[in-house]
Amino acid sequence: MTNHPTLRAKLETEAQTLRHRLQKIQGDLRQEDGALSADFEEQAVELENSEVLAALEDQTHQKLRLIEQTLQRIHNGTYGVCNDCGDPIGTKRLEAIPYATRCIKCAESAET
Ligand SMILES: [Zn+2]
Repeated sequence: MTNHPTLRAKLETEAQTLRHRLQKIQGDLRQEDGALSADFEEQAVELENSEVLAALEDQTHQKLRLIEQTLQRIHNGTYGVCNDCGDPIGTKRLEAIPYATRCIKCAESAET
């Protein structure tokens, strides 16, 4: 098993970017929590913004988790191995979905 140096570097860079984004979002969220405008209409806009921010935070968090899991799998030497059947996931599938944890057969049977 190789340790996927190129993919690992790519994922680590991506994780770094996502962590920064998350920090920024959380900073923005805190700011908005603290000071709601007196103006009701502005309040509504601010609340809407924080909803968008919260959704974005959620999304970023999930992506980050996925990347961290993938890095963990590379570290453990289980990257590219199907979680369900233990078969190799396949290079083409991994190129398309680097976070895939199941081979195409198992993924398809899980979906149906
Ligand atoms: Zn499988």
